[in-house]
Amino acid sequence: MKKQTRVNHPPEVPVPPDNRPVIAPIYQTVKFEFDSVEETGRNLRGERPGFYYMRSSNPTTRQLELTLASLQDRDDCLATASGVNVIAQTLLGLTKQGDHVLCFIETYGPTRQIIRRLLGRFGVTHTMLSIEDLAGIEHALATTATRLVIFESPTNPITKVADIAAITRLARRHGVVTVMDNTFAGLHQHGEYEVDYFLHSLTKYASGAGDVMGGAVIARSELLRPLRAEFPVLGGVLDPHAAFLIQRGLRTYFVRYREQSARAMDIAQRLAVHPAVSRVHYPGLPSHPQHALARAQMREFGTIVSFDLRGGAEAGRRFAEGLTLFARTASLGSTESLVMAPQMLKSRDLTAAQLAVSAVADGTVRLSIGLEDPEDLAADIERALTIAEA
Ligand SMILES: *Cc1c(COP(=O)(O)O)cnc(C)c1O
Repeated sequence: MKKQTRVNHPPEVPVPPDNRPVIAPIYQTVKFEFDSVEETGRNLRGERPGFYYMRSSNPTTRQLELTLASLQDRDDCLATASGVNVIAQTLLGLTKQGDHVLCFIETYGPTRQIIRRLLGRFGVTHTMLSIEDLAGIEHALATTATRLVIFESPTNPITKVADIAAITRLARRHGVVTVMDNTFAGLHQHGEYEVDYFLHSLTKYASGAGDVMGGAVIARSELLRPLRAEFPVLGGVLDPHAAFLIQRGLRTYFVRYREQSARAMDIAQRLAVHPAVSRVHYPGLPSHPQHALARAQMREFGTIVSFDLRGGAEAGRRFAEGLTLFARTASLGSTESLVMAPQMLKSRDLTAAQLAVSAVADGTVRLSIGLEDPEDLAADIERALTIAEA
């Protein structure tokens, strides 16, 4: 072989079977081959295990999928390039023209856009209610033939808690598929409920580092089969390098989620007694309207603490700009703390009546609590509240 050929066919370095790597290597390869065309064909027909093309699967991504599935108490998972990508691909994969979808005002903004704009263009209709309106949900499911209901808990940014048992019971009664974006509660919670499809943004708690994006749909394997057929041609594949980083992040997932939730609880308690604050939204607080439901459904209450400033939007802006340890930006679940001012929380696609239901007020601020020293965070918040009141 000439050098120019050799450089494209580097030597294999086999690892003996009794000499395994402790951390699985990154399979940074688009293609896999078999020795024979016959075995390639069997693999493509699903008659034998193996890999062929990264857009369909890859061992590094598959390891992450299996880890995620077990954390969420299911047996199968498909990972994708981002959280919104898995929402879009799942909804496209599960609906067809003429279907009806039940969704909620208190939903991640891009999810509403996917349902209204994207699915709407293909003749999928929807009803949008409040997640607190159980009677409305019951009525909608009883009177309108519905393909699926998609919901979140706790919701963003007010941390309303969905009654998962009630919603899944009503859906089951009417043969409606349930899809739950479980990003806020995390991979270790809600698995005991009869939710058909769990969706996650892996960009948040799973990675924990805020340096990589990913998404996942987790379900029983027979429910995932139709999506497994569609996802490779929709093409939102998670790169193995990103999968490796997320898998690495998961090693500290439980420690981070518990520790950051404990800090969030502490900050929520401090905010609740602060004179500049009219209301704190945190499911772990006994003053949260659905605290009993949250306690029944969750072991940890998450790292998002929202609150309403008496001083309104301007006080919210001064507060966010007065913080020194919180980055003024979107997202959550990373180890650095984040803040969103009221001006950053406005939903432009909602009507005045829907905005009232969303309960995002003029002075609502959202905090995502990280892993900094708790006393430093509390002091930073205290200082910024003084600036907000000035
Ligand atoms: C961030 C987020 C998403 C979208 O995830 P990306 O990874 O940013 O695309 C979806 N749902 C919820 C609840 C989120 O917080």
